[in-house]
Amino acid sequence: MRWNKAFAPLVDLVFPPRCPLCGAALAQHGGLCLACWQGLAIPGGPGCALCQRPLPDRTAEQGGDAALALADAALGNWICAPCMAEPPRHAGVAAATLYNDISRQIVLGFKHGRRIALADLMVRLMVPRLPRLDGEWLVVPVPLHRWRLWRRGFNQSALLARGIARAIGQPLLVDGLLRPRATPPLGHLGRKRRAALLQGTIRANPALASRLRGARVLLVDDVLTSGATTDACLIALRKAGVKTARIACFARVIDDTHAIATHHDHADAERETGPKTLAPEA
Ligand SMILES: [Zn+2]
Ligand SMILES: [Zn+2]
Repeated sequence: MRWNKAFAPLVDLVFPPRCPLCGAALAQHGGLCLACWQGLAIPGGPGCALCQRPLPDRTAEQGGDAALALADAALGNWICAPCMAEPPRHAGVAAATLYNDISRQIVLGFKHGRRIALADLMVRLMVPRLPRLDGEWLVVPVPLHRWRLWRRGFNQSALLARGIARAIGQPLLVDGLLRPRATPPLGHLGRKRRAALLQGTIRANPALASRLRGARVLLVDDVLTSGATTDACLIALRKAGVKTARIACFARVIDDTHAIATHHDHADAERETGPKTLAPEA
């Protein structure tokens, strides 16, 4: 980003730095104002040993089993209910933020307002959350169907994947996964049916078969909701012989009751007029 530095004074004059979310004046480009920063929910503290889902807040206030869960989590032994019901196909999730109003605004600004500059900010928040990745890890974005790609002009996950690959010095496999078919409307389907339908829509790129076989993959998504889309990706990667996969996402939706109630996966948000939390601002 040397270019940025060289031209910064000029850019500052033409476009005085403003918070991309609320418009407040900033000292320099490329960040958020203090209020917006403080509104971000950064996952912290003990979480699920398998998927890093944070321990629910209320657990701390309950006695008995909840206290045990807290102790387990502190030791890295706590397994969350979704993982208990179905062990994840990935080796861990690194989330920059928990999905809330502020991260939602960032994602929507990025996705629909085409503020591609927000990608830098998101990458800067995502990279420190990643665990140490020894050896080679292929950075692969969750794919977008070409119609949507054409309409939006870019794959938001691919932009994030590119930034992350650069930041951690790992190879980017931007088309490691393909989405040859558009996702059918999933609105009223249960989790199992949705998973089955999604599975047929995502596959590993046959042209990159030799690259993927035996590889380790960092799968990049902007918002991780029910996991149906990432699951379809993980299944396709596993079929292609990928040894292990981790997920990196910008915002993770933790409120399961909400995610289940809306039968919603962010990838399909555009298709439906659906829930307000994911719909573009009117
Ligand atoms: Zn702000
Ligand atoms: Zn878990």
